[in-house]
Amino acid sequence: MLTIKKLHKSYPIGDSSLHVLKGIDLQVEEGEMVAIMGSSGSGKSTLLNIIGMLDEADEGEYILDGVPIKNLTEKKAAIYRNKFLGFIFQSFNLISYKNALENVALPLYYQGQKRKDRLEKALFHLEKVGLKEWAHHLPNELSGGQKQRVAIARALAANPKLLLADEPTGALDTKTSHEIMDFIQSLNDEGKTILMVTHEEDIASMCKRIVRLKDGVIMEDTFVEQVRASQYV
Ligand code: ADP
Ligand code: MG
Repeated sequence: MLTIKKLHKSYPIGDSSLHVLKGIDLQVEEGEMVAIMGSSGSGKSTLLNIIGMLDEADEGEYILDGVPIKNLTEKKAAIYRNKFLGFIFQSFNLISYKNALENVALPLYYQGQKRKDRLEKALFHLEKVGLKEWAHHLPNELSGGQKQRVAIARALAANPKLLLADEPTGALDTKTSHEIMDFIQSLNDEGKTILMVTHEEDIASMCKRIVRLKDGVIMEDTFVEQVRASQYV
């Protein structure tokens, strides 16, 4: 699914620079569910953003589904992003003046799909996350867990090969976190490849593999016995 070799990333600060990723090697196969762990500032989001083509590495190789991701034009990057990737974030990133259905339909708009098809697919995905009845509600009328479900439905609308999540449970209480993880596990059970950043051990243990970052290098990369979230919900 993806291969990363000797990846480096620095950010300029004034006259010097901050070396954030220092030679990352990572390979993820289709169907995996991987947690990227590490303390705050260890480079987790930087790595996820590069994988998500929201940012570019300075050095190294990144191949996504057979496509070398390098020096792509904005337009090409946007096309690949739309085709390969779905994103969820800690802060949901829903559009506040659009209702749940319109939020979920948005990626399909960017794919140039017809309005009727967009709304039909969006409703299908909202139903899948259990929020069909909430289709016409605005984000501020939804709970945190419901907002994240809408965000997941939006991420899935264009049927991406890879779902990227940056601290998807970071803004949720424990019970709601487990409900969201239960849903994400069910997606992985169906075959969706998932890569998630978290700094919570119990959330990471619900993945099948844990990659630990420290100061921009991978300290540990192990397959683990997956804890099922369903036992807590
Ligand atoms: P994590 O997600 O593990 O908390 P990040 O990848 O967000 O870490 O950040 C790693 C380091 O890079 C931090 O020290 C952060 O301040 C710095 N950093 C992140 N993004 C930028 C940026 N756009 N410009 C400058 N420094 C950044
Ligand atoms: Mg982060």
